[in-house]
Amino acid sequence: MEKAGLLLRASIISIGNELLSGDTIDTNAAYLSKQLQLLSIPRVSGYTVSDDILEVVKALKSASDEADVIIVVGGLGPTDDDITREAISEFCNCKLVLNEEILKKIKGFFDLRGGKMPPTNEKQTYLPEGAQALPNRIGTAPGIKIEFEKTLIYAVPGVPSEAQDMFEASIKPDLERLEGRKPVSVRYLSCFGMSESQIAHLLSGRMERGRNPLVNITASGGVKTLCINSVADTREKADENAEEEQKNIAEILGNVVFSKEKETLAQATAKKLKQFHKTIAVAESCTGGLIGKLLTDIPGSSDYFKGGIIAYNNESKIEMLNVPLELINKYGAVSKEIAEAMAKGALKNFDTDCAISTTGIAGPTGATPDKSIGLVYICVVWDDKDYVERCNFPPDRETVRYLAANYALNLLRLKLLI
Ligand code: AMP
Ligand code: MG
Repeated sequence: MEKAGLLLRASIISIGNELLSGDTIDTNAAYLSKQLQLLSIPRVSGYTVSDDILEVVKALKSASDEADVIIVVGGLGPTDDDITREAISEFCNCKLVLNEEILKKIKGFFDLRGGKMPPTNEKQTYLPEGAQALPNRIGTAPGIKIEFEKTLIYAVPGVPSEAQDMFEASIKPDLERLEGRKPVSVRYLSCFGMSESQIAHLLSGRMERGRNPLVNITASGGVKTLCINSVADTREKADENAEEEQKNIAEILGNVVFSKEKETLAQATAKKLKQFHKTIAVAESCTGGLIGKLLTDIPGSSDYFKGGIIAYNNESKIEMLNVPLELINKYGAVSKEIAEAMAKGALKNFDTDCAISTTGIAGPTGATPDKSIGLVYICVVWDDKDYVERCNFPPDRETVRYLAANYALNLLRLKLLI
């Protein structure tokens, strides 16, 4: 990848053995990437490297070939495994020099807490020659800013609160002043009920790489989120192109799209319940309260969510939701009839306008010859009508529960549209 020349591009280097081992999730890179995108300096590459000077120098070399701005995260602490200063000075061919001002600040940090600066912190008072220190308002490690062969390099601490504060206070204002940023507009479409490949097939040419607007797709819990990135000479044009693309894609995908924002199904469904002044109750078996949780994650949900019953075993289904024992004996707890009876029981007990229920086999045990793991019946009761769906989800407990909860919310959303 070559530097584009016209547009500013960014790269992020995350340093730490704990990131490579999977002990720590690289939330800093996610945060910084989003911020850079908002500043119209798209991140074009990323590196995760160990606490090793040579590895960091290697990453700096590659990143500087691709990007105009590099943000290095982590490795600024006082211990031996913190080698970012050394790596940057080696990459920039300069020595590390003591910075009296930083020394004073770090001593002040410890004075304030009634202690003496430990000798290990001395390391943090050194900067590559020609670099500027970025103040740390939370911890001791100052950040670094240095320009080398037309590449602007920043280094921030790994502690997420410190990395974010330093970015906000020192790096963002700096980057906002840079020229060569083209406005980028981002719009979203949240979808449910279609696979990634089905969406890609319907959108064919629109998802081609290198296209502007560029359309990306991500998937989580059955929800597919389309991200539309548009770059133009003016903010207005970038917005206009992104919105036009969003509108066209929404038309192609129809009611698979549940939101024109990056939203959860619970949020979109809750908006509809609020809009139509409808109340809801849930009766959950295999989802174990997850639908109730997803709905009550939203502040102010008591406006429409009255309550729910987790009726996990047969006795609870009978006692709490008035499901007839004969029905369970005849059809089994995982059946269309029981899903219907559960939803009707919740509707009656909570006196709501609608109710949803789930009953299924989340696994890994509980399968029978005619009912396999992943089988879930989902029912929505709405006015006098009820809708039951028989679903077969992939046989993994976590997946079954999340997909069932989202499927139920989506079914309710679709019924609310009618
Ligand atoms: P460091 O600045 O390398 O000493 O990192 C300090 C702490 O911040 C580490 O112990 C991690 O827990 C955390 N950390 C480091 N890098 C990251 C990262 N990229 N994302 C999230 N947390 C991180
Ligand atoms: Mg570290």
